Amino acid sequence: MRAMVLQKPAPVDSAPLHLQEVPTPTPAAGEIRVRVHCCGVCHTDLHTVEGDLQLPKLPIIPGHQVVGVIDSLGAGVQIFRGGERVGIPWLNWTDGTCRYCRAGQENLCDRARFTGLHVDGGYAEYVVINENFAYPIPEQFSDLNAAPLLCAGMIGYRSFRLSNLPENGRLGLYGFGASAHIVIQLARHLGHEVYVFTRSPKHRELATRLGAAWVGTAEEKAPAELDSAIIFAPAGALVLDALRGVRKAGTVTLAGITMSPIPQMDYALIYQEKILRSVANLARQDAREFLALAAQVPVRTEVQTYPLEQANQALFDLKHSRIDGAAVLRVLS
Ligand SMILES: [Zn+2]
Ligand SMILES: [Zn+2]
Repeated sequence: MRAMVLQKPAPVDSAPLHLQEVPTPTPAAGEIRVRVHCCGVCHTDLHTVEGDLQLPKLPIIPGHQVVGVIDSLGAGVQIFRGGERVGIPWLNWTDGTCRYCRAGQENLCDRARFTGLHVDGGYAEYVVINENFAYPIPEQFSDLNAAPLLCAGMIGYRSFRLSNLPENGRLGLYGFGASAHIVIQLARHLGHEVYVFTRSPKHRELATRLGAAWVGTAEEKAPAELDSAIIFAPAGALVLDALRGVRKAGTVTLAGITMSPIPQMDYALIYQEKILRSVANLARQDAREFLALAAQVPVRTEVQTYPLEQANQALFDLKHSRIDGAAVLRVLS
């Protein structure tokens, strides 16, 4: 099969992914094989390719927002049948036995494996996965529009869920990429007001189009006090801006997998019982709940597509905030 393979991490400007012919995987017992139609491009892929994350497997095929159709079943598969359309997200496998799994926090599993990091992902024509970690895609979504739901959407949903927003709340979003453009739709559907902080003129325009109550830059003060804020941009200084913007006992949620150092701050910024928390990965329950909610809204994703072999270009554009909405690789064209 054809795949974009990372042999060695390097700055994305040097095009570290190479188009290669690699053996098509065979599904083991309990696994399904998916013929990939498309795969979303995520900031985490950028951190993988550039080596900001520790890479447990090299070479690796990145990609963890996979949409495709099941073309082969391993022994004993019970949930799915051949021909069904499924999505594969970041959470690839958990042990089910560690203290976190037993406490309903499998997103923090001590032995969790992630798609495109520990296990080859969707920048390829085929992917295999344990059937318990794949999800049927609601029929109202096209393949391309479904791809960003699988990480941007699911992680966005978890961040939203953990941000303790009261009814008819006021939510701030810092950064307006793939995740935020989905979260704003969930939040508005549920009756909240959304305030968007971003520098990019294109992102500001998209935020306005999606119904933001106000759009400004992080240095500006929103015209109303916020109940909660979610930071999607990986800039530590935003933590201070967001804490300044939320009310007493407000929650600031950090959605990224990496962030530049958070500057020193006065205690007064977090006093008054403000809550600062990060979000790590997703649990299967997030995936199921989010897909059901996204279908009900229904969430409309903006996608910018690239052929598989232009994965380096897609990552480059993502790095330089040149994507409106989400980038998606077309694999089966
Ligand atoms: Zn576990
Ligand atoms: Zn991701």
